[in-house]
Parts: sequence; structure tokens; C-alpha cells
Amino acid sequence: MPPLLFAKTISTEPALPEDMKQLMLNTHTWMQDSIRVGITYKNAFWQRNKTSGTIYSSAGPIQEFYDHSNSYNNLHALGGFISTNYSDNTKAERKTYIIKQLQIYYGDQALDYNSYEECAWRSEKHTTSASDKFLMPQTNNGHPLFKETYLNNRLFITGAETSAIFSGKMEGAITSAQFVFEKLKHIYNK
Ligand SMILES: Cc1cc2nc3c(=O)[nH]c(=O)nc-3n(C[C@H](O)[C@H](O)[C@H](O)COP(=O)(O)OP(=O)(O)OC[C@H]3O[C@@H](n4cnc5c(N)ncnc54)[C@H](O)[C@@H]3O)c2cc1C
Repeated sequence: MPPLLFAKTISTEPALPEDMKQLMLNTHTWMQDSIRVGITYKNAFWQRNKTSGTIYSSAGPIQEFYDHSNSYNNLHALGGFISTNYSDNTKAERKTYIIKQLQIYYGDQALDYNSYEECAWRSEKHTTSASDKFLMPQTNNGHPLFKETYLNNRLFITGAETSAIFSGKMEGAITSAQFVFEKLKHIYNK
């Protein structure tokens, strides 16, 4: 799990060394502030009008959007990332601003959506936790101290953020799991 979340929610007996605790509190959790949204429609009007559904924008909430229709092309959606500047808005406000932005690109047909879904990662208490101060993305990701074991080889702190390669990404999470697996083999095969 992300080291910051660990430091904020789990205490150990005996306590972890202070340098480790401080390191975890100062380790950025990748994409911790991101907000993903998805809007379903009856028709993929963005495919008909010689537009792709791909949007890159630095104005308005939508920053990066794609056509999320299924492979049979019988379920239609637009989805992607919106700016974290809208974190303090309500879900209803975010929806209004997003639909308005889509209306600018596609006209009034954008108003006729079926459903709106969103996930703001900062509200996901089981996978992220707010840091007390601003941390640059990937601060302390892959720090060498994460390779240590604790509580007499019974505690391994591992996850995407502890990996020195592809930190924060799925590949980093898998690399970390493999690292601990090899370590366990070494410890228990002695
Ligand atoms: C919006 C978003 C988009 C992303 N896009 C990409 C992408 O395109 N490509 C990519 O490679 N990566 C992407 N990532 C990153 C990727 O999701 C992570 O790298 C990966 O999920 C991390 O895996 P993990 O196992 O380290 O941690 P997590 O997936 O966070 O798993 C930690 C687990 O620990 C559990 N847990 C928490 N507290 C406790 C507790 N006290 N006791 C027991 N269990 C607990 C949690 O419930 C969770 O299941 C994205 C992340 C986000 C948020």
C-alpha cells in the first residue's frame, strides 16, 4: 500500500524507526489528487461528426478525454481526467462544468447524457491519504530505505511507490511484489 497511507493509518509495536516514519510521511502517492470521470450517452455523436472524442484542454475542467465506447460499439461513453483544481467543488458542480465544456465542442447533443460517474482519489480512504504538506510528484518514490525489512523480517513495506523503477505505476507495483517475493524466498529457504 502507499507508504503515506501506511504511515497515517497503521501503527506498529514496536514503532518503526523515526527516519522510516518520516520517509513514509514524505513519499508522494502517484496520482493521489486525480479525478476520473465518465459520461454515458445513447449515441456516440462524437464518432459521427468527424471528431474523435479525444480532448486535450488546459481551459475548463476537462484536461484529457477519450472515447470510452465498448468494442462492440453498442455502449457509448466519454471519459478521462479532469483538473484537480475542481477538487473542492461538489460532484453536481463538476458535472455541470464538464457537460458545459462538452457542449462547447459538440453542441446541445452533449446535454442529453444517460449517466455521470466520477472518482476523486483523494476521497478513496483505502488507497490514498492526504499529505500534510505539498509533495512534488514522485517525491521519495523508490527510496533505498524501502528495501529494508522491519519487525524482525515480518514487515515489508511494498507497493508502486517503493519501486525504484516505474515508481507509482502498475509495473512498479509488480516489480515491488517480485522484490519482496525474492526476499521471502531468501529468508525462509535459509
Ligand atoms: C486515477 C489513476 C490512474 C492511474 N493510471 C495508471 C496508468 O494508466 N498506468 C499505470 O501503470 N498506473 C496507473 N495508476 C497507478 C496504479 O493504479 C498504481 O500503481 C497501482 O494500483 C498501485 O498498486 P499497489 O498494489 O502498490 O497499491 P494499491 O493498488 O493502492 O493497493 C493497496 C491496497 O491496500 C489496501 N489497504 C489499505 N489500507 C489497508 C489496511 N490497513 N489493511 C489492509 N489493506 C489495506 C487497499 O484497500 C488496496 O487494495 C493510476 C492510479 C490512479 C489513482
